[in-house]
Amino acid sequence: MGLRFFLVLLGIWVIYLVFRRTVQQRQSRGAKHKELPAVDVVCCHRCGTHLPAPDALELDGRYFCCPEHRDDGNGPANRTE
Ligand SMILES: [Zn+2]
Repeated sequence: MGLRFFLVLLGIWVIYLVFRRTVQQRQSRGAKHKELPAVDVVCCHRCGTHLPAPDALELDGRYFCCPEHRDDGNGPANRTE
């Protein structure tokens, strides 16, 4: 009776340790996720390419992936410079 009671306690303790480790791993993984800066993704008004807002070129509230597309959206497509 005493040994069986001890084994049950041991089992509960092991389950508790495994459960606690799983929770800690999940929390540390979540913390790593939070370290990533939240960056808005915007869509190029000309070609539809998705890119981070800091890398995009903004003009009149519209976003573009490169100077060529920004200039194309602003005037004739076949202008030369
Ligand atoms: Zn583009």
